[in-house]
This record gives sequence, structure tokens and C-alpha cells, in this order.
Amino acid sequence: MPRYMTHCNSAFPPNDIWYLLDKDGLTKRKLYLATCPICCKLMAFYNYTKEDGTEEVKTYYSGGARRMMDELKKDMIGSMLRWRDKYKQGNPSGFVYGINKETKKEIRQYASDFYGRRVIIKKIAKNGN
Ligand SMILES: [Zn+2]
Repeated sequence: MPRYMTHCNSAFPPNDIWYLLDKDGLTKRKLYLATCPICCKLMAFYNYTKEDGTEEVKTYYSGGARRMMDELKKDMIGSMLRWRDKYKQGNPSGFVYGINKETKKEIRQYASDFYGRRVIIKKIAKNGN
């Protein structure tokens, strides 16, 4: 699972992550999307696990990245940005929503998948700071 995208000798977090339905024997499918902060190129990492358990990441740029977005849009279960906006109901693929962790200053809400990977979706400050 790539935490950072890299281009132009810099590393940056994805702007969005699409979570995709299992398909054609491929599981844990995700599309990581980012725009390089240096050259503004659109990048997509397509990450999945094959039937034999090997994980693959394919990288696409610009037009190729846009084509992957068009192709994979229909398989999207949810995305990091959507979760930030609102919770999705009736999830088909084992995502657990609204896991709360409380710290002194804030309550953090996470979404988690079967593999224990968590995406933070909301931070609520306590006492208004
Ligand atoms: Zn770049």
C-alpha cells in the first residue's frame, strides 16, 4: 500500500483514494490519485492483490490516469474524500464506519476495512479549541 506518491524527486500523500469492488480475481483494489505539486501532472496508482496473493501497483500519468479513473469509477465503493463529506450507507465490502478514538483534545472517527487499514474521516475538537 503506497502511502506516498513520488514524482519530480518529491514525495506527497495522495489527494484521494478510491476503494473498489473485488473483480476478476483481484481483491483489495484501490486507486490512489494525486497531482504532483512540482509539475502538476495527474498521477494514479492502481493497487490490487491477485489470486495468488501477490500485490501489484501500476502507475499511470495524465491521460492514462484519467482513463483509469473513467474505467474504475463504476467499481467505486467509496473514497477518502466522500467519507470526509458523509458516511456511506449499506456498504457491500466489509467496511466498518464510525470507529471513534478519543484523545484529550479531540474525537477522531475512522473508517476501517477488513484488513485493519484505517482512514481518518472526521476530527471533532473538544471544548471548542
Ligand atoms: Zn512532477
